[in-house]
Amino acid sequence: MLNGKIALVTGASRGIGRSIAQALARQGAYVVLNYHGGEERAQKVLEEIREAGGQGEIYRCDVSSEEQTKEMIGQILTRHGRLDILVNNAGITRDNLILRMKAEDLDAVLDTNLKGTFYCMKYAAKQMLRQRSGRVINISSIVGIHGNAGQVNYSASKAGIIGMTKSLAKELGSRGITVNAVAPGFIETEMTEELSPDIRERMLGAIPLGHFGRAEDVAETVLFLASDQAAYITGQVIGVDGGMGA
Ligand code: NAP
Repeated sequence: MLNGKIALVTGASRGIGRSIAQALARQGAYVVLNYHGGEERAQKVLEEIREAGGQGEIYRCDVSSEEQTKEMIGQILTRHGRLDILVNNAGITRDNLILRMKAEDLDAVLDTNLKGTFYCMKYAAKQMLRQRSGRVINISSIVGIHGNAGQVNYSASKAGIIGMTKSLAKELGSRGITVNAVAPGFIETEMTEELSPDIRERMLGAIPLGHFGRAEDVAETVLFLASDQAAYITGQVIGVDGGMGA
């Protein structure tokens, strides 16, 4: 149970972040649902959480901005006095083959996925060190381990998240703070909806379990990493990919 815990989930207005926020709230955590553009959708997720008996609030912040991220975590501390669980889930793609990929596509993806994770970890770590407790869970991707044609920018951001996860686990371990990453495979969300039927078919052929994952599959793993049962797990990357990376 996560009663009394304060959790921040970035990119909680839809997809995997929405499921993670719902799962944490179901276990009793008070969840701050970060969003960027999708205010109405974030509000709807919060309503769903409240209808199910959970608690939380929404907070607009562009995680690629250090100033806004610092302010968001500062506000959480002012209002709640602590931060127990940080889930860095916000992410974007700007796919293209390298010859057509612009430097702006690299910057945009690194700014949100990698630097956004860095800023949230930095300001959350300050508080978690004071508390001498905390859980940081970063959403990486199978692509950050194995690569994927058309995603050099995205795979760099997700591989970078794995490096940061392992380094921070080493930095914060002696203070009782764990830092882990989850590497989803192909999960049915708006991010993967855009892919062509051809690519979807090819992906499906590479999944030993024979079907795409659901946002809830990722959420359950995050819930485990946030729980007392995972107290001795840190610096790990857990694949939730139907065996795709095996
Ligand atoms: P999604 O449906 O596209 O949702 C992305 C979320 O990120 C939205 O809530 C969006 O908020 C938020 N976001 C984007 N830019 C932001 C910013 N600058 N600041 C704050 N929030 C921002 O994506 P998803 O499929 O659920 O993916 C969630 C995470 O899992 C991502 O990190 C993704 O890379 C990773 N992942 C996904 C898959 C997959 O198959 N779907 C596989 C591996 C890893 P707004 O709409 O409010 O702007």
